[in-house]
Amino acid sequence: MSIKKKDPDRFDPEVINRELLQFLDESPVSFYAVKNMAAELEKAGAGRLTETGRWQLEAGKMYYVTRNDSSLIAFRVPAGSFSDSAAPVSGNAAGAKDAACADGKDTPAGFQIVASHCDSPAFKIKSNAEITVEKRYITLNVEKYGGMLCEPWFDRPLSVAGRVMIRTKEGIETRLVCIDRDLMIIPHLAIHMNREANDGYKINVQKDMLPLLAENGSGEKAGGTGSCGAPEKDAAGRFLQLIAAEAGVQPEDILDTDLFLYNRAKGTVLGLNGEFIASGRLDDLQCAYASLRGFLAAEASCGIAVHCVYDNEEVGSGTKQGAASTFLSDVLHRINGALGGDEEDYIRRIRTSFLVSADNAHGVHPNYTEKTDPTNRPFLNGGIVIKYSANQKYTTDAVSGALFREVCRRAGVPCQTFHNRSDMLGGSTLGNISTSQVAVNSVDIGLAQLAMHSSYETAGAYDTAYLAEALKTFYSLSVEARGDGSFRLR
Ligand SMILES: [Zn+2]
Repeated sequence: MSIKKKDPDRFDPEVINRELLQFLDESPVSFYAVKNMAAELEKAGAGRLTETGRWQLEAGKMYYVTRNDSSLIAFRVPAGSFSDSAAPVSGNAAGAKDAACADGKDTPAGFQIVASHCDSPAFKIKSNAEITVEKRYITLNVEKYGGMLCEPWFDRPLSVAGRVMIRTKEGIETRLVCIDRDLMIIPHLAIHMNREANDGYKINVQKDMLPLLAENGSGEKAGGTGSCGAPEKDAAGRFLQLIAAEAGVQPEDILDTDLFLYNRAKGTVLGLNGEFIASGRLDDLQCAYASLRGFLAAEASCGIAVHCVYDNEEVGSGTKQGAASTFLSDVLHRINGALGGDEEDYIRRIRTSFLVSADNAHGVHPNYTEKTDPTNRPFLNGGIVIKYSANQKYTTDAVSGALFREVCRRAGVPCQTFHNRSDMLGGSTLGNISTSQVAVNSVDIGLAQLAMHSSYETAGAYDTAYLAEALKTFYSLSVEARGDGSFRLR
């Protein structure tokens, strides 16, 4: 009897899920996702670039750059990008520099881009956040970041993570903070006090969602001056003290903060046969992580592989580091320039480039099967979901759908299709926003999941490996447009 051996060249679903769940646990907010991706890139030999520095690129090397510490773009310069691998060539000779790949044609290498996002809906802590309630409780004032399901944030341990800006002798410095313990809870009102709780109760964030941080005066000696030993000392300022201690500074040195609540429940594998994974932030760190792994595992190709992870997709992408910003086009322009290309070369590169916009998709829900389109029914573990929308909320068209299906076929990975029901609006994503800045052929894809925008989401245990495998193949390819409706993948 022969034992089927695992293919060592392919991603093992069990192993990559374990690594994904660790990445999710260590990335409670976008700043940490970017920090952790940067660390993996550096471990693999990628050089760090800054947007304010001058770029000198070497053929065959990987680089990455961040913006706002919350968006990241990594890329690989193809071998043979320079006529002399030590130095860039000036002028419009990009075609000649790519000679090894040009196959006798005067076409500069295009960009093979995968874009995902690293932010997730959460509650952001407001300025002056502490609220003293009847002298006994300290709650925190919060507001929504993105469009989450509020319900799953109730009655579970929460904590806080983000960044603080601190005053230093030289000026101002960024420090990331993550309180790594169960710290807060948003308690539901008991059913006895709200008999409508199970009948579609409308949640008011300002009223219902304020987390309980402390008993006022907690940490003081019990048995104070109150009639029954009730603590009297005001705990106001304790939250800022906690954040300052975590950042290693005094509270008065904190100039400003971007702090968010996060769900303390760790990611896990579940299902009778371990066929599901569940965690906070699967949308969209599952795609971002699969993109990173595919990028790092890819073979050098004639195309310029670009791993792009944006912040702020959940709030419309309209920030300086979001998909609507110039971040990607700035980076692509600078790569082109560092390779010795001029504006003419840039436009030619863009015309032969391809974008995979990777953001999770809705799988068929076992309790609400009627919510999915009648003929396009993506399931968890069914492979990569290609998303379509006639009004182009998803960028997929026949060209990009065909190209991506061919990538999946070459990768040996299944794919499936998603359309919204025709009587349902559906969500938005970053593909069409990014292509308004960098107009390339683009496909919208994702992995099927349930409970999108819950504080704890569910996905398929086999799909992470499928996506990493397909993106490894994509990053190892060059999709070349011939300008006559035909394309070459090599
Ligand atoms: Zn998303």
